[in-house]
Amino acid sequence: MANTPSVDCKQDAGVLTPIINRNRCEGKEDCVRVCPYNVFEIGTLSIEQRRALPLGSRIKAWAHRNRQAFAIRADDCHACGLCVAACPEQAITLRRVNAP
Ligand code: SF4
Repeated sequence: MANTPSVDCKQDAGVLTPIINRNRCEGKEDCVRVCPYNVFEIGTLSIEQRRALPLGSRIKAWAHRNRQAFAIRADDCHACGLCVAACPEQAITLRRVNAP
């Protein structure tokens, strides 16, 4: 279901981008539900992404069938912050594009 763009958007698209902490995300889909711009989809971690995780995070990811959120349309983010507030694992932060 498409979300309705929010009136609380803080920035034009492309100023901030959501960063998903792979050690925290459990693929609960709250970000998918709340994002007015459909930035997120739930997908499966690649073998390389799994290998990059520390052991504890790899086990946690496995327990959730390696399903996590991916910001596949990050360029559409308008920095409303709804995903940051909605994530029960506090896995999402917003970072300025081109930040070091
Ligand atoms: S801050 Fe989060 S919910 Fe808001 S537009 Fe960006 S990705 Fe979507």
